[in-house]
Amino acid sequence: AMRGILDRQERRESAARTYARRFPVVPVRAHGMTVEGADGRCYLDCLSGAGTLALGHNHPVVVDALRKVLDSGRMLHTLDLATPEKDDFTDALLAGLPRAFAERARVQFCGPAGTDAVEAALKLSQTATGRGGLLAFTGAYHGMTLGALAVSGGVAAKEPVTGIAADVTRLPFPYSYRCPFGIGGEQGEHVAAEYAARLLDDPSGGVTPAAALLVEPVQGEGGVVPAPDGWLRRLRELTARHGTLMIADEVQTGAGRTGAMWGVQHSGVLPDIMVMSKAIGGGLPLAVIAYRDDLDVWRPGAHAGTFRGTTLAMAAGAATLRFIAAERLAERAAELGERMLARLRELRGRFASAGDARGRGLMLGLEIVDPSGEPDALGALPAAPLLARRVQAEALRAGVIVELGGRHDAVVRLLPPLTITDEEADRVLAVLADAIGTAER
Ligand code: PMP
Repeated sequence: AMRGILDRQERRESAARTYARRFPVVPVRAHGMTVEGADGRCYLDCLSGAGTLALGHNHPVVVDALRKVLDSGRMLHTLDLATPEKDDFTDALLAGLPRAFAERARVQFCGPAGTDAVEAALKLSQTATGRGGLLAFTGAYHGMTLGALAVSGGVAAKEPVTGIAADVTRLPFPYSYRCPFGIGGEQGEHVAAEYAARLLDDPSGGVTPAAALLVEPVQGEGGVVPAPDGWLRRLRELTARHGTLMIADEVQTGAGRTGAMWGVQHSGVLPDIMVMSKAIGGGLPLAVIAYRDDLDVWRPGAHAGTFRGTTLAMAAGAATLRFIAAERLAERAAELGERMLARLRELRGRFASAGDARGRGLMLGLEIVDPSGEPDALGALPAAPLLARRVQAEALRAGVIVELGGRHDAVVRLLPPLTITDEEADRVLAVLADAIGTAER
């Protein structure tokens, strides 16, 4: 049965499929961190819907919240009408946002996907400032719609299209391991901030004052690269000075993932606009932006979308956000994430192909490198995407699903549910170590 389903997908679905190629498994049941395939095999899921399933699969509080809606006779889809579920979701969302931000926040429901919310944030920034330009970073990922694509760093997804119209100035994202300035460490961060400041302050720099600067508190698809706190604070000063709005893309970093409820909270930076999706819908499609009330310049109808009133997603999302807060899962992510990161770093001593390990909370990455390659000026070996593929395949064979990402597609990424147990974490790390050992041979 599993083979038949995979074969039919091969014939009938788009060639753009990725996960299906990397994980040729037909899932039929899932609970917590475990996915069961049609072949009867079980897998530990470190992908969890690309970080969407903060509480794992079919968590009872989410299932109960969904059941309650289904049994209530409520409208499942309501455009932007007022509903008890939306009211409750908004309460839960605002309760978790940084207080100074929440006090003055307006919420816009944007549609099902993160990319919808990114578009809304860009558009609002342009309406509110009357400017067109945007500032974005190397390694950034913001989605697949054309505006989000324009501010994303990776070129692979842009190559198939021409003429993505947007005035985007790209700035270097600080990245110690493969520092764009060949410096690394805190000095590299400092130079990244200095570079941005000097470029924007220079009247001959060619950059007109921008509507917004868009930044991920931890770059996810870009290879799990945390934004240094001091660098983010300097960006905050710089944008304020230039009248440029700061947009935090918290699509992946939000809802406890990085060890704080929201990624910007590590640095204390208050953005002007926050972009949120993935886990806030409890596994169902939901995307919102929140922004300071004085930016609420839209006229009725200036921003719309059919799927802004998804009752089930709001109910699942509210239940998820409340559970994360009540069970202190962000703290748990910080504590377990630190232990897991320390163990990923140990792999570097054991395996020649284990490169930099990094991350924040339960957003972790290990770069796979080529031991026979030439080290760069800072000693980093070349990224090894083919070897990383083998590691991923070996991990899957041993029953652990991990994703790849990063600038060279050579970073093994872990995005487990925040409910992952110590035993599950041990098993993931043991399988990963074995997978690297096998892949190297
Ligand atoms: N922003 C970030 C930071 C993301 O990680 C993603 C998805 N990986 C998106 C935006 C786009 O979200 P979606 O895939 O739901 O459109």
